Amino acid sequence: MTPTEKELSKYPVVALVGRVNVGKSTLFNRLIEEKKALESPLPGTTRDVNYGLCDWRGERIVVVDTGGFVEKPKTEIEKQVYVQAEKAIKRAGAVLFLLDVKSGLNPDDKKYLAFVRKKTKSPILLVANKADRLTLIQDTYAKEWLSLGAGRPIPVSAASGLGVGDLLDILLEHFPSNKDRETSDDQPIKIAIVGRTNVGKSSIINKILGEDRVIVSETPHTTREPQDTAVTIEGHSYILVDTVGIRKKTKVKSTIEREGVARSIKSIERADIVVLVLDSTVSPAKQESRLAQIAVENGRGIIIVANKWDLVEEKQSKSILAYESHFKSYFAFIPWAPILFVSALTGQRTSKVLDLARAVQKEREREIPQEELTIFLNKAMAKQKPIWILGKKKPVVYGIRQETIKPPTFALAVKESPSIQYAYLRYLENRLRESYGFMGTPVRIFTEQIVKRLSEL
Ligand code: GDP
Repeated sequence: MTPTEKELSKYPVVALVGRVNVGKSTLFNRLIEEKKALESPLPGTTRDVNYGLCDWRGERIVVVDTGGFVEKPKTEIEKQVYVQAEKAIKRAGAVLFLLDVKSGLNPDDKKYLAFVRKKTKSPILLVANKADRLTLIQDTYAKEWLSLGAGRPIPVSAASGLGVGDLLDILLEHFPSNKDRETSDDQPIKIAIVGRTNVGKSSIINKILGEDRVIVSETPHTTREPQDTAVTIEGHSYILVDTVGIRKKTKVKSTIEREGVARSIKSIERADIVVLVLDSTVSPAKQESRLAQIAVENGRGIIIVANKWDLVEEKQSKSILAYESHFKSYFAFIPWAPILFVSALTGQRTSKVLDLARAVQKEREREIPQEELTIFLNKAMAKQKPIWILGKKKPVVYGIRQETIKPPTFALAVKESPSIQYAYLRYLENRLRESYGFMGTPVRIFTEQIVKRLSEL
């Protein structure tokens, strides 16, 4: 079974790396308990980097076989495999680095290991494959292996399965158990509340914290960040990032310098959702669009909250829609960001802020099934094809695949990347938003140049 994007983010990823012929795919097949390697979910991509699920003692991990990966790719296929393998290594929570105990240490082993060490800070476990006999198991104590500086390799025989259970036991010690993950399935949503001084950030936060339905965690250190405020509302947890200073502001006057852009950037980087607070009576300025821009660049969800709504006098004559379009015009680059008019003074709609954050988080986690995406692409392309620019190669699109969530990111498989105009990617983004919403979240689409193998053409 091919893991879905959700599974990829839910379970620990383990990359199998090593030079050619050490037995990566044999171990991969052993781990996933299927005879055949899985097909890559993206039509047109190489089949040389495979993903599979491995279950062991009630735990589940995603294993990636980096297959025909070479350190210095020459052919197009090798280059593709390189890119995908590199991605897998960077994403992996642990790397199984395979060695061939039968043939002994090879100069390529050292080279590859150095490469992997550069790409990841995750634990790298050496695995001595082809240890099918006692003497070979004993060979794993040899100095040559220890010279790699990663301890004694764990002996296994991928072909017979010998030692694979022990390997999995050792591997799983590096990850929290599924049970811990199940409870964290409903992980707290991290929210950064940013904006200029005096727009009412502290007032909004204190209003929210004062609501009856909100339970403020009295042990902030449980969030590991003493600056954060952890709250629970009707069973859902939220972390208000870097709020302690802001909350106490009314008492401690000297915190204005703490609110500089640099500090906001740090909060944005730690958050899932950015709540950008404005003053309804003042037009937004550069600083606000800068903060929104940073949130987009970091792939964060964005909610615009216009505070001090109670001070707006012509509320009766002008509709809220007119106000909405006025404020939205300052944020034309994020037309998808919802806007909420609140009053921290009267409490009007302040309770909606965290509910909206929850809704936006769902959108950030939205995953479109592959079959639907393929139909979507066909329809979008039937309506409008990418323009063939004179002097450039003809644009050829093979397919689309969802690469990640948070934010939803899509790879468009094409024959020649430069042949696809940026405007066309925007067109696809707009169609995606029409079909699936994605309220409050950036959506990313990039092109991936794919070489089709002759056999697939
Ligand atoms: P911060 O610097 O963004 O944290 O802003 P504060 O929360 O300290 O608020 C700045 C000033 O605006 C204070 O005097 C608040 O009492 C006032 N204020 C905050 N929210 C509202 C609101 O919704 N309506 C009105 N009229 N005043 C507000």
